[in-house]
Amino acid sequence: MTELSGGPSLPQERRVVTAVPGPKSQELMARKQSTVAGGVGAVMPVFAARAGGGVLEDVDGNSFIDLGSGIAVTSVGNSDPAVVRRAAEQLERFTHTCAMVTPYEGYVEVCEELARLTPGDHAKKSALFNSGAEAVENAVKIARSHTGRQAVVVFDHGYHGRTNLTMALTAKNMPYKHGFGPFAPEVYRVPVAYPFRWPTGPDNCAEEAAAQAIDQITKQVGAENVAAIVIEPVLGEGGFIEPAKGFLPAIRQFAADNGIVFVADEIQSGFCRTGQWFACEDEGVVPDLITTAKGIAGGLPLAAVTGRAEIMDAVHSGGLGGTYGGNPVACAAALGAIETMRELDLNAKARRIEEVMKPRLEKAAERYGVIGEVRGRGAMIAIELVKPGTKEPNPEATAAVAKHCHQAGVLVLTTGTYGNVVRFLPPLVIGEDLLNEGLDVVEEALAGLE
Ligand SMILES: *Cc1c(COP(=O)(O)O)cnc(C)c1O
Repeated sequence: MTELSGGPSLPQERRVVTAVPGPKSQELMARKQSTVAGGVGAVMPVFAARAGGGVLEDVDGNSFIDLGSGIAVTSVGNSDPAVVRRAAEQLERFTHTCAMVTPYEGYVEVCEELARLTPGDHAKKSALFNSGAEAVENAVKIARSHTGRQAVVVFDHGYHGRTNLTMALTAKNMPYKHGFGPFAPEVYRVPVAYPFRWPTGPDNCAEEAAAQAIDQITKQVGAENVAAIVIEPVLGEGGFIEPAKGFLPAIRQFAADNGIVFVADEIQSGFCRTGQWFACEDEGVVPDLITTAKGIAGGLPLAAVTGRAEIMDAVHSGGLGGTYGGNPVACAAALGAIETMRELDLNAKARRIEEVMKPRLEKAAERYGVIGEVRGRGAMIAIELVKPGTKEPNPEATAAVAKHCHQAGVLVLTTGTYGNVVRFLPPLVIGEDLLNEGLDVVEEALAGLE
């Protein structure tokens, strides 16, 4: 069986032994096409066989350098030993009771960890769910219950999920919303401080964007009608946009001044991804509620809303929950993932990844006019591609770079409102040699555009 096991024992190497996709992947893809709904896409048409550390091996024996982590999920690596050990132990004890029927200790322990790890030293409580979208929906339910108000304010380029309410909260039409309306009402979208694309340039972006956002909220919605302001401290699907410094604190202050629940959606940016436990710590922003998922449990489905005890407790008993929310195996996995984050100091690893990646990408940006901006923090780094000499988005070059990387054995993802951002989300445990080799291939891809 050892031969079949994935995890960190996998050879940490890039290895392309067939065309990509290889024959076995092509065969499986044909089966997929005849049985899996067409709406479920695939970034890279290869089928996974094993994964661990910084690599993903496909069914044809190709080994890809993983710069995607299953979209910021396997931050501790795939099949992390502590995740496997704790989840396997739990699988043998019991798989499900329903936390609302018969609670179990793992659920409580995860909530205790969330209270310790999230920003702020106020009394906190949590509720656990299955997916990020479900966590965001519940944060809105809690905020509405607490405030007795209905409106929810979100931002340009924001992404919050694919359920009905979270589609309404999400900015981008294609592919997330197109044809899926009508959407939930009482959702209002305001500008975000996107320095690279701010009309007057980056220098006054934070103040101008905050003033515009606040003006729209007060004039068009009425602050006294707003239950929650929901924002990603680093906007993920929107293109790894770091709001200009000062913007988040200004919006946070406005929320505090007006009795609005400030919700940080840290589903993508949380759990060591940006080199801090949570990205909002970067500017000392303490949210009222924080939503987490993705990196929390090493790949098992788990999500949470954590926040001020008095807000969380506003909801009547029985008002929050779900059959599977806080599944015991997922909770055990989360405790394993958190153990690994602490033991390996994955915040430091994420900062080191930034130290390796950013200078190399910035150098590439001097050389290749197609790179409009290099941005991001920790292991959440991106390049925004433009038509050289302009700021016009270049989704064609973005797709070409991704394709070259995939063919050459490097898994990268694209993102962004304009589809023109190559994003890098390596597992935080990736070896530095592998990371550098991955960057060599990215540079090759950029050179190939010329
Ligand atoms: C991925 C993501 C979600 C949705 O999470 P799912 O688990 O896919 O439902 C919500 N918000 C942000 C910021 C995300 O990145």
